[in-house]
Amino acid sequence: MKRLKFYMALWCAKLSIIALKMTGHRGTDFPGRIAVKICPDFLRQAGVPGRVLGVTGTNGKTTVCNLLISMLKADGKKVLDNNQGSNTITGLTTAFIRDMGAGGHCRSDIAVLEIDERSSRVVFPLMEPDFLLINNLTRDSIMRNGHPEYISRVLTRAMPAKTKLILNGDDLIASNVAPGNPRAYYGIESLPDDVQACINLVNDLQICPKCHSLLQYTNRRYHHIGRAFCPECGFRSPKLDYTGADVNNEDMTFEVSHGDWKHRFRILNDSVFNIYNVLAAISYLSELGYTPEQIDGLLSKAEIVKSRYLVDEIGGYRVIRQMSKDRNALGSSRAFDYVSHQPGDKELIMMMNNLSDAAVWSENTCWLYDCDFEFLNRDNIKNIVVTGPRAKDYYLRLKFAGVDDDRISFVHDEIDSPNALRLYEGEDIYVLYGTDSIDLAEKVAGKAREKIEEKISGNAGRRAG
Ligand SMILES: [Zn+2]
Repeated sequence: MKRLKFYMALWCAKLSIIALKMTGHRGTDFPGRIAVKICPDFLRQAGVPGRVLGVTGTNGKTTVCNLLISMLKADGKKVLDNNQGSNTITGLTTAFIRDMGAGGHCRSDIAVLEIDERSSRVVFPLMEPDFLLINNLTRDSIMRNGHPEYISRVLTRAMPAKTKLILNGDDLIASNVAPGNPRAYYGIESLPDDVQACINLVNDLQICPKCHSLLQYTNRRYHHIGRAFCPECGFRSPKLDYTGADVNNEDMTFEVSHGDWKHRFRILNDSVFNIYNVLAAISYLSELGYTPEQIDGLLSKAEIVKSRYLVDEIGGYRVIRQMSKDRNALGSSRAFDYVSHQPGDKELIMMMNNLSDAAVWSENTCWLYDCDFEFLNRDNIKNIVVTGPRAKDYYLRLKFAGVDDDRISFVHDEIDSPNALRLYEGEDIYVLYGTDSIDLAEKVAGKAREKIEEKISGNAGRRAG
């Protein structure tokens, strides 16, 4: 029997949704905030859909969730998700309220929830996921998340005993969360670009978690992601249940094996990061009982949200919007590594400026010194335009990375930053933006397109004259 408070919370929140719609405000956490205020254990009292699938970890949560949602919908399931709101308690509560009728019952068959790592301690006591995937645990905002081993302990303490974990077995911090829980591991056997020594500034798992001797990595992708063993006590990376192998960048496929099956699946993008995301979604659906052929079919139908990587082509130039998570040394290092390895000349507009933090606090800039700006010190990166409130911090960091002055331009205002582009023929222009500046990045990319069009029409005018 649901208590009166629950219904009060539900109806007030529902009324607020109507009010928000009328005033043109969508996708906020406000309804959930109201509900939690009136009924703090709202989620416990809410009837959950048949299955609750959680996704957490530092990087790739949104992509894995979007893949899962898209594939399950392609299978005809009604899915409750929080991909329009936040991944904290108020965002999750808002998602449930939107799914519920006036009687407080969810209409969907299945919930796919992106859950903030630290929010797990508030969410799990109220709602126990049937499955939880942890894609990786790496450094994030130091002010919010401290260190990945701290986050691992937060998750372990909060983990409900019944939750089955689906873990990245190539991440020894993620794979050691809640050791008593049932689990399945996924990982990638080996890749042509694997190294043994770490080439990144951040290397968060160097010693054996059991005996504290130095770990040896047999295959390392980046940072502490790879496969390792301890020569002293025999501790090693877990045996994989889902093994990715044989990545083919030509036809954009890779092979996954599990138990007695082996199947080739398409990849969305050739960055290792995204191969992990696809492997995570494949492993998840297999754990839910789908066959590899069914998963393959659903993956082909999946509509992938491309908001993190958008390309416009104009007269031989490409303007590429690439999300590069601010405050997140590892996320930005991956973006820098990817961009710097793309063929051809390029210019970068760097505008990861922690804009939303400015309203309430000031983010500690030490993440800039954990992040591999050194990857940007390459001959094919002709010009880096640093812009916005953090422009001087970027300028200093690029100097430390050894980037020459003549390859750095400083523009105070983001909107004016395309004026500093040099527009070498046939180059790519990357707009590297943070999680809270999607709209601004679109405006900046639009301005860059205008500059290119001006240049092209100028050239045509000169030729005609
Ligand atoms: Zn050891």
